Amino acid sequence: MKLKTWRELEEGAVIRNVPTSLEYKTGEWKRESPLYDSEKCTHCLLCWLYCPDFVIKVKDGKIYKFDLDYCKGCGICAKVCPKEAILMKEEKI
Ligand code: SF4
Ligand code: SF4
Repeated sequence: MKLKTWRELEEGAVIRNVPTSLEYKTGEWKRESPLYDSEKCTHCLLCWLYCPDFVIKVKDGKIYKFDLDYCKGCGICAKVCPKEAILMKEEKI
């Protein structure tokens, strides 16, 4: 029997409706949430730059919202903030 070449192989699988990270709300398993104090914030945007999950939303150069559905509670935003405008608060389970 002659073996097929890779070009002759049939497709093994078709992935339909490829999921995106938008469907995985990491905020559901976080243990801490950022508490943002707009009075202390100077909008330097360091937290926005460092947040690994694009939780911090900016419009016209200013923070307007934390989308906590996608926050994993890592605390990086609080760590990099030079004005201590973000405090991490423990989640109640
Ligand atoms: S705690 Fe982490 S994931 Fe949540 S907003 Fe701050 S940097 Fe982003
Ligand atoms: S790092 Fe602090 S001061 Fe800078 S934008 Fe974020 S919350 Fe505001």
